Amino acid sequence: MTRKHPFEPFRIKSIENLRITNRAEREVALKEANFNIFKIQAEDVMVDLLTDSGTGAMSSEQWASLMRGDESYAGSRSFDRLERVVDEIFGFKHFLPTHQGRASEGILMSLLVKPGNLIPNNTHFDTTAAHVLAREGIPENLLHDYSKNPSYDHPFKGNINLDALRQVLEKNTDMIPFCMITVTNNAGGGQPVSLANLEGLRKLCDEFSKPLFIDACRFAENAYLIQQREDGYSHMSVREIARKMFSLADGATFSAKKDAIVNIGGLLLMNDKELYENARNELIMHEGFPTYGGLAGRDLDAMATGLREGTEDDYLSYRTSQVAWLFDSLKDIGVPVFGPPGGHAVYVDAGSLLDHIPQSEFPAQSLAVELYLEGGVRAVEIGSVMLSFISPETGELVTPPLELIRLAIPRRTYTESHLQHVVDSFKAVVERKESLRGLKITKQPRLLRHFTCDFDWVENNEGIELSSLLSS
Ligand SMILES: *Cc1c(COP(=O)(O)O)cnc(C)c1O
Repeated sequence: MTRKHPFEPFRIKSIENLRITNRAEREVALKEANFNIFKIQAEDVMVDLLTDSGTGAMSSEQWASLMRGDESYAGSRSFDRLERVVDEIFGFKHFLPTHQGRASEGILMSLLVKPGNLIPNNTHFDTTAAHVLAREGIPENLLHDYSKNPSYDHPFKGNINLDALRQVLEKNTDMIPFCMITVTNNAGGGQPVSLANLEGLRKLCDEFSKPLFIDACRFAENAYLIQQREDGYSHMSVREIARKMFSLADGATFSAKKDAIVNIGGLLLMNDKELYENARNELIMHEGFPTYGGLAGRDLDAMATGLREGTEDDYLSYRTSQVAWLFDSLKDIGVPVFGPPGGHAVYVDAGSLLDHIPQSEFPAQSLAVELYLEGGVRAVEIGSVMLSFISPETGELVTPPLELIRLAIPRRTYTESHLQHVVDSFKAVVERKESLRGLKITKQPRLLRHFTCDFDWVENNEGIELSSLLSS
């Protein structure tokens, strides 16, 4: 039942050559990287699905925007252009440009999170969780159980569990400075959040007088999926739906490297004037003057153009259909995929595909490693390597419910034949899946270990204790 690959609403104007590698070369590259996919050189990768963040192809209009960039320190015209688009799309009273999403998170959390605070979210992304943990707060993930079931079909598996949130709010109300929701839910299968769920969340936040912040990295993809999947919104444009989403929140953090299709950039948005003024002080200290933040004028300009292009219905139809094409193609060859398809990536349930490898031996990392060896395809582990942490409350290791790998599709970058190569590589791996082995970590930092840690096969030298993670 594989559908047709969607017609690309663009053509190629400039290309970047790819190096075709063989298995022996990839074995060397992997060993040198100590089996950490993040440490493989990009030129040793043939199809890079590590992330959709900052890896999209800019349009000719965006490249023109770079040339138009006004590099004035204060009051740059590029900032004005960005401001107009941001006001139109997001509609918050205040915003600050930052160098990327995590800078926005860092500023927000430094102002609002105190030790012992609890921050509820549908699922915190790794950087968000790290910012909360770094301030001795507790990131609380509140998904419905069905959202963790890869084969359960529900249009909005990113929805936050409002009953669970009510309980958390009733029990810990004094410890909760604000609530968050991530659209789409990147660490939970890239699944969208419905407007009905956002409305319920708003009501609950009002009842307990809590501000609501949206982690808005993929708001446009989320809005498009609302248009397609939720009753009552098919007549509205993506921008209208996005405005409605943001009208329910008090602020948002945004990585422009996602739905604004730029290589760098972010935004911090809010309605509260005092919070804005405090955030602006932080911005000036760590990022830059408020009319450029952590960016050059040309980056602001490219972001402004990208925000318009990234919220166009035709583009989002192509974008989400390409993800669905890969999803269907993998499903057809027996790969357990996390359904339904989300906005930016296909998630493969490695824990179930490789059920002979226990969670403590990182089945998803093993799959990512094998996929690279087979076809030079780079995917990212979203499982126990990335998401485990030691709870500051109980001192125990908290592991995620699923061992996934994510195949994130860079925007407007790869064609059908590139993705067919990914499917073919999977086919070969699935055929020999019983031969795949577990891995152990041999070296790791305290926070965000997946970026830099070293691995080895379990049967090789001693690993280190998993519990050395994050124990301060
Ligand atoms: C990418 C991402 C972030 C962080 O943004 P950066 O620009 O990478 O700093 C935060 N939350 C989610 C859901 C993301 O996908």
